Amino acid sequence: MIAQSFNYEAPHTLTEAIHLLQHYGDDAKILSGGHSLIPMMKLRFASPAVLIDINNIPGLSDIIIDGDTIKIGALTREVQLEHSDLLKEHYPIFADVTKQIADPQVRNRGTLGGNLAHGDAANDHPAVMLALGASVIATGPDGSRSIDINDFFQGFYTTALEQNEVLTEIYIPVPPDHTGSAYHKLERKVGDYATAGVAVVLTMDGDICKNIGIGLTNVNAVPMRALRSEEFLKGKPLTDQNVKEAGKLASEDCAPSSDLRGSEAYKRDMGAVLVRRMIASALSRVK
Ligand SMILES: Cc1cc2nc3c(=O)[nH]c(=O)nc-3n(C[C@H](O)[C@H](O)[C@H](O)COP(=O)(O)OP(=O)(O)OC[C@H]3O[C@@H](n4cnc5c(N)ncnc54)[C@H](O)[C@@H]3O)c2cc1C
Repeated sequence: MIAQSFNYEAPHTLTEAIHLLQHYGDDAKILSGGHSLIPMMKLRFASPAVLIDINNIPGLSDIIIDGDTIKIGALTREVQLEHSDLLKEHYPIFADVTKQIADPQVRNRGTLGGNLAHGDAANDHPAVMLALGASVIATGPDGSRSIDINDFFQGFYTTALEQNEVLTEIYIPVPPDHTGSAYHKLERKVGDYATAGVAVVLTMDGDICKNIGIGLTNVNAVPMRALRSEEFLKGKPLTDQNVKEAGKLASEDCAPSSDLRGSEAYKRDMGAVLVRRMIASALSRVK
C-alpha cells in the first residue's frame, strides 16, 4: 500500500524541531531511520499529516564516555552500535543485539532512539536497555529531562515521551569491574522479530552474583524485566539450580500470546531456556 500524503519538514536544530512539534501537535511525527514509521504509514496504521525529519540535526549520533556514564545519541544507527570500539570494550551485548536486528539495510538506517521510541515489545533494544539500567533523555520546550528506563515503556506502543519531546540521548552506566553481558533471541529465520529474547547484564563478586539485570523481548505486551529472577539471584552463587530457578520465575512472570511464532507455552519455555543460556554467556564474559 502507499502511505497517505504528508508534509515534510527537515529542521537543522533541535530548537527548531521542538517548535515544529509544538506547532503541529498530534498531527506530527518525528522521522529518524523510518524503518518502523514508514512501514506503519504504508499499512495505514499511522497517518501523520507532517513528518519532522531530525536527520539534519548535528550532535545526535555520538557515543562517548562522560565520567561514569556512557552517552549514546538517539540518532546512532545500529551499524554504529555494532562497530563501536567503546561499546565493544564495555558491553559486548551491543554487538550481540545489533547483529540480530533485521538485515544490513535496516541496520544502516535504523536508530537506537527510534527503536526505543517506537515502544514495540518485539523490538530488541528495549530488553537490553532494561537489563543495562539505562536512562532516556527527552528534550522538549522546557529543556531536557531524564526518564528511568523502568518508567519509559508504559503500554502497547506507548512510552513516557510527551508529544512535544524528542528523545535525544540514552545514558548507560559504565560497568563496574567483573561485569559481563549477553543477548540472544530465538527467531524463526534470520532477521525475524523474536519468538522470545533475553538480555542479561551481571556483576560478580567472586562466585556471588552482586547485581543482575534481565530484560525480556516479545513475551509480554510491554518490554519487561524479569524482576523476581533478578531478586532471586542477587547475593547467591550462579549454580545450575539457582540459574534454573531464575529461568522458571521469568517464564512464570512473562505473558506471551500465541501467534505464528509459537504457542504461549512454547514461548514461556523458550524464555526460561534463554535466561539460563544468557546468564551462562554473560558469566563467560565477566572481566
Ligand atoms: C524488515 C524489518 C525488520 C526489522 N526487524 C527488527 C528486529 O528484528 N528487531 C528490532 O528491534 N527491530 C527491527 N526492525 C525495526 C527497526 O529496528 C527500526 O529501525 C526501529 O524499530 C525504529 O527505528 P527508526 O530509527 O527506524 O525509527 P522511525 O521508524 O523513524 O520511528 C519509529 C517511531 O519512533 C518515533 N521516533 C523516532 N525517533 C524518535 C526520537 N528521537 N524522539 C522521539 N520519537 C522518535 C517516530 O515518530 C515513530 O513513531 C525491523 C524493521 C524492518 C523494516
